[in-house]
Amino acid sequence: MLSISARQNTVTTETSRQQPTETTQALRNLPKVELHRHLEGSLRIETLLSIAMEYDITLPSVTAETLRPYVQLMPDEPRSMQQFLSKFAILRQFYRSEAIIKRVTREVIADAAEDNIRYMELRFTPKALNNIVNRDYQEVISWVCEAAKEAAEANNIKVGLIVAMNRHESLDIALNAFEAALALRGQGIVGVDLAGQEANYPVSLFRVLFERARAEGLGITIHAGEWAGPDSVRSAVEIGATRIGHGIRTIEDPDLVQMLVEKGIVLEVCPSSNVDSGAVASLKEHPLEKLYTAGVRTTINTDDPLISGITLSDEFARVLNATSLTLNDLKRMQILASRAAFLPSSERTALAAQFEAWFFPPPTRPLRPQDFAQA
Ligand SMILES: [Zn+2]
Repeated sequence: MLSISARQNTVTTETSRQQPTETTQALRNLPKVELHRHLEGSLRIETLLSIAMEYDITLPSVTAETLRPYVQLMPDEPRSMQQFLSKFAILRQFYRSEAIIKRVTREVIADAAEDNIRYMELRFTPKALNNIVNRDYQEVISWVCEAAKEAAEANNIKVGLIVAMNRHESLDIALNAFEAALALRGQGIVGVDLAGQEANYPVSLFRVLFERARAEGLGITIHAGEWAGPDSVRSAVEIGATRIGHGIRTIEDPDLVQMLVEKGIVLEVCPSSNVDSGAVASLKEHPLEKLYTAGVRTTINTDDPLISGITLSDEFARVLNATSLTLNDLKRMQILASRAAFLPSSERTALAAQFEAWFFPPPTRPLRPQDFAQA
């Protein structure tokens, strides 16, 4: 069950899969921004079943509920990076055609719109989508761009696409995907990301790519400070990232905290994902609140909604429950997120102004007698 105290917006919740109450409904109704969500971790279980039937893919289980533990972290499972990543093993088998890649892109965007996300940056890894279809990267990326544009228009949501490369794959693979994405900039690509195994593959291996991204004016976000410490975050900032995926281990280094505050670097924090991957022991111990209180620009994101079994609204409820952050704090984080969107500056300003007007409208002037005078 979920309950809320009106004074503090304190929410308590047991699991994410339950009937919506007044508060979860209120959080769903809240217009939202999400900057960090992976296409490959956001599929619908029902879609996996339907694609498996159509393409004759063998699954370990054939109903939504029995398949769930293979693609989603269950409450009684250990929380570790291996366990978390093991959920992607089945998901990787599904990208078999243009129709499937377009379908899942459309559905992920429709699901975000259903949760009242008004602006989302959706990231995807061309290499992951291309492993089976094995086409030209530009072709595969164009499928995502086309489906995203169509779904955004159909669902009243604005979407920017981020192309993600993996640290543990070669620079050549990353550059191929990156060059293909550059050619499709006008089709909705707004930024680049580096993901994958952080500890053994420093960002410096990809310097040439980020120099090019900077020269082209693409947004740069880099996964850092999740599986490696503060130096990894520092290197990501030095190479040009204005946003950091996770970045939670920044809290271990006060000088780095100060540097992020001064430079206005934005952290794309994904609290449930950090717990589910074992990077943080529990939401109560998560450094989000400390980072926010220290003045770091923090935002809240889902990372992989399917794996963690959450929506962004669920994530808000969990943060309200586990911390002393208030609904107004979450609204401020939404405004920070809108100001950090990888959009042309005029569109970014308009987006932020829209969220400011929704969340903190100027006080209404009291009516005066002359307001009722006949013209
Ligand atoms: Zn991520």
